[in-house]
Amino acid sequence: MTRQTLTDDIDNIRLRIALPNKGRLADGALELLERAGLEPAVASDRSLRADLGEDFTALFVRAKDIPEFVADGAADLGMTGSDLVAEADRPLETLLPLGFGRCRLAIAARDDGEWAEADDIADGVRIATSFPRTTERWFAARGKTVELVPVSGAAEIAPHIGVADVIVDLVSTGSTLKMNGLREVATVLEAQAVLVAREGFVAGESGARVRELVAALESVLRARGQRYLMANVPRASLDRVKDVLPGINGPTIVDVMDSGQHVAAHAVVAKSEVYRTIAALKELGAEGILVTKIERLMP
Ligand code: AMP
Repeated sequence: MTRQTLTDDIDNIRLRIALPNKGRLADGALELLERAGLEPAVASDRSLRADLGEDFTALFVRAKDIPEFVADGAADLGMTGSDLVAEADRPLETLLPLGFGRCRLAIAARDDGEWAEADDIADGVRIATSFPRTTERWFAARGKTVELVPVSGAAEIAPHIGVADVIVDLVSTGSTLKMNGLREVATVLEAQAVLVAREGFVAGESGARVRELVAALESVLRARGQRYLMANVPRASLDRVKDVLPGINGPTIVDVMDSGQHVAAHAVVAKSEVYRTIAALKELGAEGILVTKIERLMP
């Protein structure tokens, strides 16, 4: 067997996951995979593919092309924006929202204009957008027909130069709209990066490996909202410590070698609760409080 066919055989065993090669979603996707233990073995920054552990090969392509590539079978899985998945309108299954690349697809109009809310928008309005299918669907569901002006970017200028009346575009903070004299009128959809597969793929023979990947990614996402908290607390306060530190199955209590006055209490605490928990532990006489990040958390 030649070297090339051997490589091809190995590649047939690996599942192909399409990842954004650049742009807003590229770093988030790689970081998430790395944290899940799938570090890409990238030969150079310009590589178009890289092995991710034993089971996956990453194919680096444009975020916009990922829904098509996965639907057509050029890749088995993909990470891209849910807005792009909606717009592609192909038979894809969303396996997991990934928690980054959050934005919304919004209708925006000139802030000195007549459109203040979606109901004001009359039939026949001209809409500049790079999301024509999603836009048309949204208006059709409200019984309105619109005239689409497809653009591939920089839609913000369109209402100011008479090309369109309103735009439908991605917004995260809204500052770009404001800077361009536009006002948000309605949200068409909320978006974030998602992991997708071809419809039916997970039910097939590769399903177990996909489910392992999903579980690994979920464990990273779950850990992001949690912290591991350790504190030495007086043994006499132990009952009350259990109220302050609920943990997943209750706190872990470990002996401290100090003639028995203290125990070490360890627990997983919601990130948003850490501040309050520390204050409550101090009230109970806790010392040596330590808070650390958690890499992965499987309940
Ligand atoms: P890219 O064109 O490769 O930079 O990726 C664009 C994707 O990033 C969009 O389809 C969204 O899923 C996501 N995204 C997140 N926030 C924004 C934003 N403020 N503007 C445009 N895209 C955004």
